[in-house]
Amino acid sequence: MRPFARTLPLAEAMARLRAVVRPVQRRERVPLDSACGRVVAETVVSPFDVPPFDRALMDGYAVRAADTALACPETPALLVQAGRVFAGEMADRALAPGSCCEIATGAPMLDGADAVVMVEDTWRGENGLICVRAAVRPGQNVGRRGADITSGETVLEAGVILTPARVGVLAALGRTDVTVYARPNVLIASTGNEVVPPGRALAPGQIFDINRFTLPAIVAAHGGQVTSRDPIPDNVDALREAIDEGADADLIIISGGSSVGERDLLLDAVRDRGEVVFHGIAVKPGKPALLAVLGTRLLLGMPGNPTSCLSNAYILLVPLLRGLAGLPEYRPETRRVPLAQAIVSAADRHQFYSVRIEAGRAVPAFKGSGAITSLSRADGYIEIPAGTPRIDEGTLVDVKLF
Ligand code: AMP
Ligand code: MG
Repeated sequence: MRPFARTLPLAEAMARLRAVVRPVQRRERVPLDSACGRVVAETVVSPFDVPPFDRALMDGYAVRAADTALACPETPALLVQAGRVFAGEMADRALAPGSCCEIATGAPMLDGADAVVMVEDTWRGENGLICVRAAVRPGQNVGRRGADITSGETVLEAGVILTPARVGVLAALGRTDVTVYARPNVLIASTGNEVVPPGRALAPGQIFDINRFTLPAIVAAHGGQVTSRDPIPDNVDALREAIDEGADADLIIISGGSSVGERDLLLDAVRDRGEVVFHGIAVKPGKPALLAVLGTRLLLGMPGNPTSCLSNAYILLVPLLRGLAGLPEYRPETRRVPLAQAIVSAADRHQFYSVRIEAGRAVPAFKGSGAITSLSRADGYIEIPAGTPRIDEGTLVDVKLF
């Protein structure tokens, strides 16, 4: 055993983490239908006006506005209908004074027309003339060419996250794909002689690998591209081999073996391959976290205990990944509710405390750091900063929802 000489306060660990995280600069082109959520890596300038032509914004009649100037229900303007134009078609002639052209929403305006009267403001007279009951101004109910986007306008800048609407902007330009920053490659592995993959029977002393399945879900949700592998046995050579196999990873996550026991060998495996940024942080649960820089790669060693591992994932891994992915800081959805019963906290450590929300109150759900149900039966967690030994019943707490 080589106990932690000293654990690092969480704020200090986060500062060190932020100092070594660099956004991945590799780029790739992705089709528009899988671009949402990705980070744009090009400046997108529109090569043309959107819409590319003046068009009707209403179903009705294209008119010369001046012809309707005096229209009212009692003395409607009477216009001769000269043709119809639907969306996707072009009128075959210009509009003559005193006439109108039936037009559909989205159809190009015809030469000579400068407004659209909506169909609700018209009726067809017995003589076949179109009766207009309301005057329209020039430009009324007309979508001008370039009103949305003008030719040469910058519509997206590098670094922006693609939302559905921003994908829509690319679609309006007729783009089939877009250049984005590559997702960070993340290799995930568990270590432990007792940890086995699912799909086989457990031998005495063995348990199924949990972390291999909880971590990828978090990594994928925060911009990472996951590769995972079967558990690594507890020996330094096997750990080193696994680390070397992940040569193209931006981040290697190994859970288990990061503590201070005889078989906790991760520190030995990384020491001569790079620089240890921290090992042992003042959080509960999740003290045995390890961050190392291995050349261009980062390695995050996480506690093997499934709950400690997952709570560290919320606290450390999410910001780390989002930094690599070029995503903005994550703001989980929170609920402010009173605490159902007092919590006594380890005063010297930042505590991650899982809670259920029942009848509008936060009920402690923590069973122990080895118990995955500490989190699976919780709705979220509260963070209790170091130096807060107790929170009384009824205190309002901010529950960060899973
Ligand atoms: P360690 O961090 O390696 O000391 O492991 C702490 C505890 O977590 C031990 O009880 C391990 O058996 C358990 N553990 C480690 N890795 C996993 C895993 N991937 N899935 C489930 N439990 C694990
Ligand atoms: Mg172990």
